[in-house]
Amino acid sequence: MGIIVMKFGGASVKNASSIINVVEILLTFKNQPLVLVVSAMGKTTNALEKLAQLAEAGEENAVITQFETIRDFHIQVVKELFGEVSYIVEESLIPYFDEIQRCVEGVLLLGEYPPLMYDRIVSFGELISTKIVAAYIEWIMGDAKWIDVRTVIKTDMQYNQAQVLWHQTEENIDKIVMPCVSSETILVTQGFIASTISGKTTTLGREGSDYTAAILAYCLTAEKVIIWKDVPGVLNADPKLRPEAELLDKLTYEEAVEMTFYGATVIHPKTIQPLYIKKIPLHVRSFLDFQSQGTLISAVKSEKQIPVYITKPNQMLVKVSAKNFSFMDENLVQTIFRKLYHSGIKINLCQTTTLHLILCIDQKVEIPKALESELSEDFFLEFFSDKALNTVIHYQQEDLIKFSNHAVIQVVGHTLCTIN
Ligand code: ASP
Ligand code: MG
Repeated sequence: MGIIVMKFGGASVKNASSIINVVEILLTFKNQPLVLVVSAMGKTTNALEKLAQLAEAGEENAVITQFETIRDFHIQVVKELFGEVSYIVEESLIPYFDEIQRCVEGVLLLGEYPPLMYDRIVSFGELISTKIVAAYIEWIMGDAKWIDVRTVIKTDMQYNQAQVLWHQTEENIDKIVMPCVSSETILVTQGFIASTISGKTTTLGREGSDYTAAILAYCLTAEKVIIWKDVPGVLNADPKLRPEAELLDKLTYEEAVEMTFYGATVIHPKTIQPLYIKKIPLHVRSFLDFQSQGTLISAVKSEKQIPVYITKPNQMLVKVSAKNFSFMDENLVQTIFRKLYHSGIKINLCQTTTLHLILCIDQKVEIPKALESELSEDFFLEFFSDKALNTVIHYQQEDLIKFSNHAVIQVVGHTLCTIN
């Protein structure tokens, strides 16, 4: 039987009863080789981020309270899961809590935390959660093996947003993970974190555990990936915005990539590419209702093409035009794009007209200044804030009519994007 890589996000391991639920799910996959990618419990990453920020601000008392809250929360979960023998698991966590304290003392002393330190501090969320989950699986099911993912997934040194070094990662997974995979042992490892060649902890970007599952699946040539979520699968809209949102039974890789690129948060945007290359199906299923089928993302098209509505909020529109009244031709566009690329500004959507280039960018306070310093010598810039990027995949005639008088409209194949 082929390997199944499963990802359990923070919500699926948020307390003792959720971890018990994880084991109930695993029991329905008996005798299959499983590799588990687990996130930090609940909102632990946010809590660790806040801990680092408090330390940076020099708020010593608040740092102590925040640290104790994080530690006591995990210890309480361990006590609930393991009862009388909890001290064994608690002891295995002590080195992590000691190290968090050392890192935080360093930040307090320095008055700042560089990206390298951020990655070190937040990584403890995943290290601790996987220790607890692996110990519990071992206790109930008999066998589990904990792997430090930093020994296998190697990245460059772009802390917070590290890029995978695929060659080294593939080699390591083949050498270190592959020999441990078997239908008798459940492998448990961390999502989101990785390390540089020299062993410094890095992270793959917030909510990056889905991507970790895809990296492992790719390198192990897994049979499939299952992402367990607190929703029934992928819906065709955000139910908070459209209560009539419905579950999609199937999506192609291309549809899924477009959805995540244009703002659907159900899966991390980088997850699909490695799976697409090896044609590994991705199943998005509910950990609350684990008998239901969820959404299958693969090369297979759904018979019905339901429109999918996505809204990406907090966008700004930037209108760029040449001061000398030049056409917005290939040469000008490439000059502008090169500058944007060098300053790390990401474009969500763009459109050219005779004299203008219109860009849709995530709204951040530093963007106007950065654009002005790159472009204002040769270009006029106009900014329009508080916009949203709306996308409809498999749009219908009525969507086209509804959006036709908005600021930017772009129709590519079956996808319609507008900004309003
Ligand atoms: N724990 C990390 C985060 O909350 C990674 C993840 O959950 O995927 O961003
Ligand atoms: Mg999370």
